[in-house]
Amino acid sequence: MGCAPAWLRLCLAGVVLLASAAMAAGPPGETIELRRDTAEVALGPAMRHVHDATAQGDLAAATRWLDEGRFRPLPRGRTSLGFQDGAFWFHTRVLNRDSPETRWLLVQRFALSDRIDVYARHADGRVAFQAGGDHRPFGARSIRYRHPNFLLTLPRGEPVDLFVRVRSESSMQVPLSLLTLPAFAETTRDAQFVIGAYYGILLALFFYNLALWLSLRDAGYFWYLFHLSAFGLVLFTLNGLGFEYLWPGSSTLNDRMVPLSVCLAQIGMQQFTRVFLELRQRWPPGDRAGLALIAFFALLGIASTWLPYRIATPLAAAAVLASIAWIAIVTVTMVRRGYAPARLFLIAWAMFLLGTGLFVGVAFGMAPKNFLTEYGVQIGSALEMLLLSVALGHRYARLRGENERIAREAKELLEHKVEQRTTELRSALVQLEDAHARLRESSQRDALTGLHNRSHFRDRFDALLRQAREHRRPLSLLMIDLDNFKTINDRYGHLIGDECLRWAARTLGHALRPHHDALLARFGGEEFVVVLPGLDLVAAARVAEDLRQHLREAPFRSSGTYEIPVTASIGVHAVDPATVGGIDPLLQLADQALYRAKADGRDCVRTSQGEMA
Ligand code: GH3
Ligand code: MG
Ligand code: MG
Repeated sequence: MGCAPAWLRLCLAGVVLLASAAMAAGPPGETIELRRDTAEVALGPAMRHVHDATAQGDLAAATRWLDEGRFRPLPRGRTSLGFQDGAFWFHTRVLNRDSPETRWLLVQRFALSDRIDVYARHADGRVAFQAGGDHRPFGARSIRYRHPNFLLTLPRGEPVDLFVRVRSESSMQVPLSLLTLPAFAETTRDAQFVIGAYYGILLALFFYNLALWLSLRDAGYFWYLFHLSAFGLVLFTLNGLGFEYLWPGSSTLNDRMVPLSVCLAQIGMQQFTRVFLELRQRWPPGDRAGLALIAFFALLGIASTWLPYRIATPLAAAAVLASIAWIAIVTVTMVRRGYAPARLFLIAWAMFLLGTGLFVGVAFGMAPKNFLTEYGVQIGSALEMLLLSVALGHRYARLRGENERIAREAKELLEHKVEQRTTELRSALVQLEDAHARLRESSQRDALTGLHNRSHFRDRFDALLRQAREHRRPLSLLMIDLDNFKTINDRYGHLIGDECLRWAARTLGHALRPHHDALLARFGGEEFVVVLPGLDLVAAARVAEDLRQHLREAPFRSSGTYEIPVTASIGVHAVDPATVGGIDPLLQLADQALYRAKADGRDCVRTSQGEMA
């Protein structure tokens, strides 16, 4: 059966010489005898031919050539003669020796011959003529079947001369067989089943992947559909099914469809390969070569609508070989480059090539003829389409995984950055807070002595005063002024004066240590102020006296050189927690006490309520 074989025969027409004919052939010119048990007989081995280059000869001429002995056996018994000009006449004599069947079907198992004229010349000189081929309407066939066929009457015991004239733009192929009608029904059964199963698989894959393409909109699926449809169309055309079902009235279309569908299939195949293997990103030179092939097939496809069939078809067939070889190269390259999806792709193509190879092997007699080899192209290409569909699924899953990984990584990076920025921001805030605290602290401190300054003192004193009033606890205020400080400045200089102020601050601080809640501040110039929460006037006057003693007994030693005696006068005021009012009157009262201490000769303590030594 030749369901798909035709296009391969086309491909191989130019390399026929490579083949060694191993087909069983009887002695040429022998009469074919139909026996009781004969069901099918191939005419090839017994057939002789003559080339009528001008295609002018008629039956009379052919009969003359037969008489002149110009008919020759087929070269090496082969029924494929390649692309030929003019007409070919074939002749064989058939004798129905003792077969009960008198109605026989002559089948030309090649769908593309343009014009086939069959002359059956009976012993009585009567000639039965029938015309067929794809340049005749499909409906004119004896049996509505994809291969041209001719119903012959072969009476028992009567030799019949069969003259078959073939003229075709496609390759000259004459795989003619004579079959009884039951044998014809029998042998077409397998082929019809395979064809049905094959197109069933193709249709299922088509609709399945169409649904995927419609929902995923992935270019890979589109080009897969294109490739599958165009390849299906090639086989449909070559099988004769296109002529039978799609364009039964148009032999022109049938002729044009062969190179056109081949070109479309190659465009689909190359484009699918480019997209699937991501050649543009992964192998730009390979991608450009693929594009060049696509451009070639596109141009050839357009040209094939007007180029003579016999030029367009062999050209397309030869280009197919280059195209397939290129796909093998690209795929192996991508596998070697470690692109994982290319592996399944390679297996898919290997299936196709293996199936096709087996079929070619049968055609050249190098492989046994069985179901697997006979339908190698169908089995191989169906497996290829199936595996490519699986490969597409894998590739899509891989792409999706890749996208998810990229999104995840981007998210992680973003999270990391946000975290980093947050940490930076937090540390900046801490630093800012720190700086703020230091600023606040320094704004509360006196630069020279490091004691609280006057403004901070006022705030604190205010708070302490409110607490004291709230808890009805006593609170005392000391105003301390260094005696004759101006003289120190005048005598030792301002810097020594500064040093002396720092020393005085330290000394006061040390002396106040036991009173951990005491508030000491520099009030201004050489004046200091102390708040003593919880101390009444007597206790406060005692502390003041203690401070005065401290200053006096630990004379100031400037840079270890001079020893300068320093004394201070102190005014003490005890606040009555029951009274209301601000801090200024209180400060004024303490100041008045201080004034009295100065007036009393300095280096002494005075309270706002009386004298104290
Ligand atoms: P009295 O016993 O009456 O208090 O006399 P006094 O000289 O201490 O008082 P007066 O108010 O006349 O002088 C205070 C001096 O203190 C005047 C000023 O030059 C000096 N003084 C004020 N602040 C500073 C300072 O920060 N550093 C130095 N070196 N001197 C200061
Ligand atoms: Mg003073
Ligand atoms: Mg003063």
